[in-house]
Amino acid sequence: MKYLFSVICVALSLNLIAQTYNLPALKYGYADYEPFVDAQTMEIHHSKHHQAYVNNLNKAISGTSLEKSSLIDLMMFASFRSEVVRNNSGGHYNHSLFWEILTPKNKQTTPLKVEFENAIKKEFQHLDSLKAKINQAASARFGSGWAWLIVTPQKKLVVTSTANQDNPIMDVSKERGIPILGIDVWEHAYYLKYQNKRGDYLGAIWNLIDWGVVSEKYISALNDPLLAQIEKDNWPELKEFHRVMSQTFHPSETGNLSPLRNRSGELLAKSILLKNSVIPSPFSNPKITEALSKLEKECSKIHKLNVKKTKDEVLKKKIAEAHDTFHVVQGLCHD
Ligand code: MN
Repeated sequence: MKYLFSVICVALSLNLIAQTYNLPALKYGYADYEPFVDAQTMEIHHSKHHQAYVNNLNKAISGTSLEKSSLIDLMMFASFRSEVVRNNSGGHYNHSLFWEILTPKNKQTTPLKVEFENAIKKEFQHLDSLKAKINQAASARFGSGWAWLIVTPQKKLVVTSTANQDNPIMDVSKERGIPILGIDVWEHAYYLKYQNKRGDYLGAIWNLIDWGVVSEKYISALNDPLLAQIEKDNWPELKEFHRVMSQTFHPSETGNLSPLRNRSGELLAKSILLKNSVIPSPFSNPKITEALSKLEKECSKIHKLNVKKTKDEVLKKKIAEAHDTFHVVQGLCHD
């Protein structure tokens, strides 16, 4: 029994157990959100639309390596995912957040937390101007999508919007950060009651927004390591170098040196751009500067050896060393 328990713990910590996603239960009955959102809309939205995102996500990742990824990882690297995974991981995450922040008016008990109130005052002067800004973003969103209030890696509150089921965690979004409030502006969120009048729905939905829950989300977002991950992911020179490194190093491991033979100049160019790039503030320290210089020297050496048509074995050893140095850089970015 104890052995089995340990095996399960190890499997969980190594992420070996396949993920399946489930529809979260609503905190209240479908009719409790009346009159601002009608019971039928709530029921269809939750039990049909959200359920479909969950089912489609499970189906899309089943039997693939993505079963071992977290939901956040599925979204963080959305640009590398299929449309199905991108739309349904977003659909599941976005709706789960939406249900959490909606509370029937007479059940809203926790007020705005003072830290959050101060942040609102700093960025938007007043709660009403924040609401107006979110409504503006929601009205301007052409077609289906979401309006968001996010915490950026610089720990600022920003209002933004995304199309379809994208969200600001995804690497496909222009403004990135952790969403703490999202308004669904798909027609399925309001059409039965409000028809084409998105503005009326946007006026009413504020009655259901639970500022106590949003305040808690604000405070936990400030301390979430995901903010640093997003910031690192927004370091384009690092991403570019990573792309060329993986496309040349990984084939070399299996004895195929031709990608590296053809692209050693490009690898060197990317290492120079990386060394001269603006290092995002949380990672900016002498260790990382030193590692980036080392990486550039190693890439320069690889290119010179390649031009001199050095043996495969030598090149293979040198690219493995540069790859190790790159891992040092990446490791330093996890602090
Ligand atoms: Mn929806």
